[in-house]
Amino acid sequence: CGISAYIGYRDAYPIVINGLKRLEYRGYDSSGVMIYDGEKMHLSKTKGKVSDLEKITDAEEERKVGKIGMGHTRWATHGVPNDVNSHPHYSQSGELVIVHNGIIENYDTIKKELISRGYIFKSDTDTEVLVNLIEEVKKTEGCKLGKAVQLALTNVVGAYAITVFDKNRPNEIVVARLGSPIAIGVGQGNKEFFVASDASPFLEYTKNAIYLEDEEMAVIKLDKGIKVFKINDDSKVEPTIQKLQM
Ligand code: GLU
Repeated sequence: CGISAYIGYRDAYPIVINGLKRLEYRGYDSSGVMIYDGEKMHLSKTKGKVSDLEKITDAEEERKVGKIGMGHTRWATHGVPNDVNSHPHYSQSGELVIVHNGIIENYDTIKKELISRGYIFKSDTDTEVLVNLIEEVKKTEGCKLGKAVQLALTNVVGAYAITVFDKNRPNEIVVARLGSPIAIGVGQGNKEFFVASDASPFLEYTKNAIYLEDEEMAVIKLDKGIKVFKINDDSKVEPTIQKLQM
C-alpha cells in the first residue's frame, strides 16, 4: 500500500526505509526492500512491521549497501500476508524487480498464459504475474524496459502504481500509475530521483515533484532526466514540476 524508491548518489537504504515509515499511516501487513549494490540485488522482505524488516537488514549489513533501492508496504489483496507474497518481487530470470500497489484484475488469465510458456510462480500475488508479463514482453519484443512496461500495461486490467528496475539497465527506473498515486522527487541536475506514494518520503531532499496522472508512466534516467508517456498510445507528455511548499 506504499512505495518508496531512490536512484542517485546517496545510500538508498535509509532513504527507502525512512520513506516506508512515513507511509505507514496508509496501513500494511508486510514490507520489503531491494537494494542494488552495482552488481547484485539484495532482497529483504517479511510479514509484519517495517521494524521487523529492519531486524533482517540489521543482521546483514551488506543488504543495505547501494545507491539504488525500492521498498514497499503491502496491504494484501491476492495471496495471504506472508514472507513470500511480500514485495518486491523478482521476475523469473531474477533480472527485473517490481513493487506494486493496487490490483491486477485479469491476473489469472495472464498467469495461465505465462505458465503455458514455462513460467513458474513462487508467490500467489497478482504482482508477480505483472513482473513476469513485463519480462515476457521484453524477451519476445526484444525491447528496452520502458517499452516492455508500456506494452505489458496495455494488456492489464486493474489499478496500479508500480516501480520497476532492470539490473541490465542500472541507470534507470520505470514507474507507472493508474488509480493509485505516485510522486517523483527531482533532485538537482538529474543526479538523483525519488519515487513515493506521496511526497513525504523525499521532502527533506527536494521540493521539486512531478505527480503522475492516471494512465501515465515515466522512464527516470540518471544524468538524462525524466520522460513521461501516456501508457495507452505511447505519446509524450510534458511533465509539470511542482514546487512543494511544505
Ligand atoms: N495486489 C498486490 C498484492 O496483493 C498489492 C497490494 C498492495 O497494494 O499493497 O500483493
